[in-house]
Amino acid sequence: MVKLTFYGGVREIGGNKVLLEDDEGKIFLDFGYPYSKYRVFFEEYLKPRAGAGLLDLLAMGLLPHLEGIYRTDLETENLWQQFRRAGHYRKLEDIDGILLTHAHLDHSGHISFLREDIPVYATASTAFIAKAIQDSGKADFDQQVCYFTPRVEECLKGWKQGAYVASSSGDHQRRFGVADQSGLSEEARNFWGRATRQKKLDSQPLDDIGKCSFNLRCFPVDHSIPGACSWGIETSSGWVVYSGDLRLHGKRGKLTEAFIKEAAQLHPRVLILEGTNVDKKANIAEKEVYENAFKVINDAKGLVIADFPARDMDRLLTFLQVAIDTKRKLTILPKDAYLLKTMRLLEPEIPDIAQEDAIVIYQETTASKSPAQWLKKIYEEYSSKVVLAKDVASNQDDFVLCFSFWDLNELPSIQPGAGSLYVFSSSEPHNEEQEMDFRRLHKWLEHFGLRGFGLPVERNGKWEIAEEEKGLHASGHACGPDLLRVARGIQPEVLIPVHSEKPEFYVDNLSGSGIDIILPTENRTVEI
Ligand SMILES: [Zn+2]
Repeated sequence: MVKLTFYGGVREIGGNKVLLEDDEGKIFLDFGYPYSKYRVFFEEYLKPRAGAGLLDLLAMGLLPHLEGIYRTDLETENLWQQFRRAGHYRKLEDIDGILLTHAHLDHSGHISFLREDIPVYATASTAFIAKAIQDSGKADFDQQVCYFTPRVEECLKGWKQGAYVASSSGDHQRRFGVADQSGLSEEARNFWGRATRQKKLDSQPLDDIGKCSFNLRCFPVDHSIPGACSWGIETSSGWVVYSGDLRLHGKRGKLTEAFIKEAAQLHPRVLILEGTNVDKKANIAEKEVYENAFKVINDAKGLVIADFPARDMDRLLTFLQVAIDTKRKLTILPKDAYLLKTMRLLEPEIPDIAQEDAIVIYQETTASKSPAQWLKKIYEEYSSKVVLAKDVASNQDDFVLCFSFWDLNELPSIQPGAGSLYVFSSSEPHNEEQEMDFRRLHKWLEHFGLRGFGLPVERNGKWEIAEEEKGLHASGHACGPDLLRVARGIQPEVLIPVHSEKPEFYVDNLSGSGIDIILPTENRTVEI
């Protein structure tokens, strides 16, 4: 008998944490950051306290009450005493690992809190993106997926109580086992072990997934980030297949098609399937995004800003093609350059920034005198490609600037000219905070006389994109009919929906298909 316990991803989009237990062992399917649950209690300036370690997250119900799986350096004194009587408390040691499906934080983020000897199994791309995100990001204590800075209790002078502070000794890299490690170049392995912050990195060589006590299958699938996969786990009750996030309509939709075929051949007992876009009837393909973006940018006079999701490599390449075809330069941020360079270590078909005339790198106006190591390296390596606000300001017709809402504060240095365009190629707001940001975005555009295109507009409390401006965003997730095609194509005995606000969709649409649907309950176990 196999037991599946759903600690996250139940009636929420993201935060997937599914524990699979069998005679073979125990393994988690993703260990994600539950954004919507966080927002119930926290916001930008009200955060879990880093110095309190695990306490705030456990107390606020953001981490499962599972003693034994978390980093011991984050366990404050007598931490577990207050949780031992909680409803779903369990002592859980000997975990075999995490099967990570992709590097979006809603699937990977809470790995930050897990013991460093628990291996993470993923594709090489996912492992590398996780490192690139951390190397070039803020590396808060709750986003240390690939490596972490241990915390030590320190008695501050004259104070009674110790605080848990980041140790200065160095970073510890987690153990990653990758499904496709055999073809990795020397350069790629060097990247994996390289410290890019001021601290030294206690690095761990990449392993393979053969070390896991379960018999595993890793199926590459298409999603809005490179390296996404679905997993198959052989259990005493038959194969359990876990989709992660996927789509059929992207540039690599064939991968997902192959996954359906191969997973079907396993005759799985269980399929755990995402359901983000169950309400969508159809998809927009990346090719349409190219065509629509080309049309509007080709007609544009003045500056063009393209706003698309971070780490969506397909979209970046779409806008690169548009830039080439409209004789402009795609102006990316250093963190995008860092990711592009990292991805090229694994996929040689990714363009080389040094060789691609149509790519330049934007240097923020307030750049620090002593930039972080990774940033310094990017500026040095591509020194002939760095452009400043004044370069963009004086030749606005020449650029497609890859900015998002968070980069708008560069605009006072650029002063976009009349007729400049803001092309929105991302998803509409999903919560009140994002709605506030969209109102601010509209104000910024108004202020600088920028014309928005493809941008959701608020009408009677609803955010909608004007009909003639649609088709600028291809979602990372399959629409309802495609999800049903995945389910029917794989034909499991049991389907369990996760990562969905409307899991009933599967009950309503798969009756009579021979597939049993089990709707999971948070913190509860399903036995199969
Ligand atoms: Zn997700």
